Amino acid sequence: MDITQPLIARNYIGGAFRESSSTFEKLSPVDGRSVALVHEASADDVNDAVMAARAASDGAWGAMSQRERSAMLGKVAGLIEARFDDFVEAELADTGRPRAAAREFDVPRTADTFRLFAGLAGSYPGQSWQTEAPGIMAVNYQLRRPAGVVAAIAPWNMPMVLLAFKIAPALAVGNGVVAKPSEEAPSTASIMAEVFDQAGLPAGAFNLVNGFGVDSAGAFLTSHPSVNRISFTGETSTGAHVMRSAAAMVRPVSLELGGKNPAIVFEDADLAAAIAGTARAAFYNCGQVCLCTERVYVHRSRFDEFVAGLKAEAEKLVIGAPDDAGVQMGPLISRKHRNRVLSFLEIARQDGTIVTGGGVPQFGDARDEGAFVQPTIVTDIPETSRFVTEEVFGPVCHVAPFDDEDEAVALATGSDYGLVSVVWSGNTSRALRVAGRMRSGVVWVNGWLIRDLRTPFGGVGLSGIGKEGGYASLDFYTDQTNVCVKL
Ligand code: NAD
Repeated sequence: MDITQPLIARNYIGGAFRESSSTFEKLSPVDGRSVALVHEASADDVNDAVMAARAASDGAWGAMSQRERSAMLGKVAGLIEARFDDFVEAELADTGRPRAAAREFDVPRTADTFRLFAGLAGSYPGQSWQTEAPGIMAVNYQLRRPAGVVAAIAPWNMPMVLLAFKIAPALAVGNGVVAKPSEEAPSTASIMAEVFDQAGLPAGAFNLVNGFGVDSAGAFLTSHPSVNRISFTGETSTGAHVMRSAAAMVRPVSLELGGKNPAIVFEDADLAAAIAGTARAAFYNCGQVCLCTERVYVHRSRFDEFVAGLKAEAEKLVIGAPDDAGVQMGPLISRKHRNRVLSFLEIARQDGTIVTGGGVPQFGDARDEGAFVQPTIVTDIPETSRFVTEEVFGPVCHVAPFDDEDEAVALATGSDYGLVSVVWSGNTSRALRVAGRMRSGVVWVNGWLIRDLRTPFGGVGLSGIGKEGGYASLDFYTDQTNVCVKL
């Protein structure tokens, strides 16, 4: 791949690459240069993609034996590894994250995801029940078949891994997939289409449509009546739109939405570990992970020590471009998103105290054209401030003291979101007791971002509907029939 030239992101429909008369540019968040020219799919393109996916699911792909289909996905994983460097460059171009992150996490994780679901589909267990009632003996067993056409809509924050997390299980059980990556991160999906093409999947099994949401590929896809499942990851407000579209044909949706994730740090916690862990949870990927901690509640007896420690960690972080020496934190995804984050920092300035950060770092070179922002810690801010109640999705957190366990739980669960929570405590009984009182899809105890893709994942409240991961993904992407045989 020639990284000096913008990538050309085409649509991939029915086994062929397709250009469009409408294109847009994706700009680098590092220095503002153009990194991709994206061909925006029209309503007709989306329709063709859905029809091609239907034909593949009803035909060659859906009818293939599980063994063959899983072998194909294993081949896809191998081809992703074979194009490791291209994927890394594309990921860096779109997101600007440190090179080590893309090399050590995004690309290997994507290949692993295909292998994992290829294997799980081959060992997907079914239930069977024996029915006994006066005069009746019967046996029940489950049949599963592909749901049909799956719309997979991804956000920009971890574009590769999050798209793979949808595509891999959906394909593994025989669906035809139409993937729509974010307009802010089109590049890795484009190379993924080349990989599927090379792997020799039947035409239409995988389709890629590029574009935006409203009046563009996203909305065309979710409103298409022949789509059978919609798996969406993105903002809560967009998820509500998607759900309305899905309602028209009563299509099941899986919505992985925003978070306003709390951490509780008890007085008996290993404070050094809690500080280092919280710094990672708040600032990793420039705070652009739905699982990032944005609210931290610390026992009053350790509050000052904790804030001082977290401040020191934030101020140590090396911010910069993917290949800068020692870089630990890249930019936000775009200038548009930075404006949003900066507007929240303005709210924090008015409503509370900025302990560190709060602005834009100055480099004196091309990086000043990028979308960098300082890691920011806020204290003394009311729980009713929009900075505390709304997802910022940047490298920010607020820290507040609590006096007892009930108050900590009340503060942590006092949000309409419920994606993940973290409990830091050296007392196992307390940690597990409090974990059971959290209102979120995942609770981490004394750690963060340990994600085993076999475990069910998905939030509660404004953070979403449904579970994906492991067999939960396979359940979502299949239709199930109970066959009852009277004996
Ligand atoms: P977004 O909602 O703006 O966009 C997500 C995707 O939806 C994009 O591909 C976009 O083009 C598309 N889209 C937008 N409007 C649409 C519409 N009306 N119909 C159909 N598609 C539409 O989200 P984003 O800014 O790309 O991502 C950041 C958000 O994603 C944050 O809120 C973050 O918390 C959330 N997120 C959640 C998870 C999770 O697992 N819960 C994971 C990652 C990100």
